[in-house]
Amino acid sequence: MSSVLIFAVVVLSAIGIVSAVVLYFIAQKFKVIEDSNIDLVEVSLPGANCGGCGYAGCRNFAEALVHADKLDGFFCPVGGNEVMKRVGEILGYEVGKVALKVAVLRCNGSVENAPRKVYFDGAATCAFAHNLYAGESGCPFGCLGLGDCVRSCQFDAMYMDAESGLPVIIEDKCVACGACVKACPRLIIELRNKGPKNRRIFVSCINEEKGGVARKNCKVACIGCGACVKVCRFDAITLEKNLAYIDFNKCTLCRKCAPECPTFAIQEINFPPRKEKAPETEKKVEVIC
Ligand code: SF4
Ligand code: SF4
Repeated sequence: MSSVLIFAVVVLSAIGIVSAVVLYFIAQKFKVIEDSNIDLVEVSLPGANCGGCGYAGCRNFAEALVHADKLDGFFCPVGGNEVMKRVGEILGYEVGKVALKVAVLRCNGSVENAPRKVYFDGAATCAFAHNLYAGESGCPFGCLGLGDCVRSCQFDAMYMDAESGLPVIIEDKCVACGACVKACPRLIIELRNKGPKNRRIFVSCINEEKGGVARKNCKVACIGCGACVKVCRFDAITLEKNLAYIDFNKCTLCRKCAPECPTFAIQEINFPPRKEKAPETEKKVEVIC
C-alpha cells in the first residue's frame, strides 16, 4: 500500500517538475520586453484616465505614443500642449501646438425659450427619455435636461441650471475630454476651438425640422432662413437640413452673422457688449450760394 503511495507521489512530482520546466521555456520564448519609455511617458501624463485622448487610459495612450513613428494626431486634452511637448522631448520628436477646445451646448431651449408642455415622470436619465419621447418642450432635438452629461464629467466642469433647465459648462474647468459629448443621446454638445481670448460664435441649435415646426416648440430655434450664410464673407456658414452650422476653422469671429439671425440662435461667447448704433443724424447739407 505504502509503495503505491510513494509511486503516486513520485509520478506527480515528476509531472509537476516537467510542466514547470516546459512553462519556463515557453515564458522565456514569448516574453515581451516592454520599452522603458512607456513608464517614462506614462508618469508625464496627467493620470486622469478619462479617455479624452481616444485610448482606454493613460497607460494605453503611453504605449501608443511610444510605438508611433510620429506624434501628429496624438493629443492629451487634459495635459494640453505642455504635456505633449514633454512627451515629445522624451521620445525625441518635435511636437506642434494644437488649438485648445472646450465643450459648448448647442441648444438654448431653456424653460423660457421652449416652454414645457408635458411632465416626464420616468427614470431620470437622458438616455432613457430620449428613447421614449421628444422631451418636455416637444422639440425632438432639444436638451432633455436630465443631466447625463453632468454626471459623465469627472472634472466638475458642468452643472444643471435650475432656472433654465439646461446644463452649464464651466469653461475654466472643462478640459475637452469629450465625456459629455459621448454621454448626450441628443448629440447636443460639441467640442469647439476655444478661440482667441476664449471667444466663440456658434449656432446654439441642432433642430433639423422646417422653420415653422421648429419655432412652434422653441422661440430661439434655427429656422434655416440662410440670413447668416448670406452675410458671412468667409464661407464659414453652411446650411443643411434647415440648420445653419458655423465652421470654427473658417470663422474669423467678425460677428456679422449674429445680429442677422431673426431668432437669436447664434451665440457669441466672451465678446464685449456690442456698441449701440448711434441714431442717424441728419446730414448737414451746405448750401453754397
Ligand atoms: S464639460 Fe465635457 S468635455 Fe469638459 S471636462 Fe466635462 S465632460 Fe469633459
Ligand atoms: S445636454 Fe444631453 S445629456 Fe446633457 S442634459 Fe441635455 S440631453 Fe441630457
